[in-house]
Amino acid sequence: MKIRVEGLSEKPLILSAQEPVSGYPVLVQLQADGECEFLQPLHLEITAEKEFDHIRVHGRVATRARFSCSRCLNEFETDIVSDFTVFYSRATDIAMEEEVALTGEDLVSAPYEGDEIDFTREIEEQIVLDIPIKPLCQEDCRGLCVICGADLNAEDCGCNRAGTGFSFSALKDFKVKK
Ligand SMILES: [Zn+2]
Ligand SMILES: [Zn+2]
Repeated sequence: MKIRVEGLSEKPLILSAQEPVSGYPVLVQLQADGECEFLQPLHLEITAEKEFDHIRVHGRVATRARFSCSRCLNEFETDIVSDFTVFYSRATDIAMEEEVALTGEDLVSAPYEGDEIDFTREIEEQIVLDIPIKPLCQEDCRGLCVICGADLNAEDCGCNRAGTGFSFSALKDFKVKK
């Protein structure tokens, strides 16, 4: 998504759009790498306004993606919603170091050149930040049985997993020796 700087004023410009993931190279690469699959286009809402010597942009990007759980390997879908605020300054201006702490939002400064601000990189970055490194279908996913491979969320296979990695007996022995 792009906006023209000319014509922006103190009166906020509000834009909303849907854009296909295919227009965002970093997201296309994520899909190619098998990190996730985007199930919806990006829903974008952008508010841009001129403020002193910069342009303040507040945005929200939302979509839905499918992941594979890192413990039980089941696929699951989840919404991705991210709010961000960016201060854009003309690239020729002196670098602006302006950090304002707003709760729960990422706040950054970025340059723009010419008469257009392109939000592609910011939007990509926001999505990437929201993608879990180790996706979990649920916070307390029980994973797979290390002996028979059963999905422990669905059934208790009855295998005796004592003596495998997560045994408590080793811990007990350790305590007794002390
Ligand atoms: Zn899981
Ligand atoms: Zn089992």
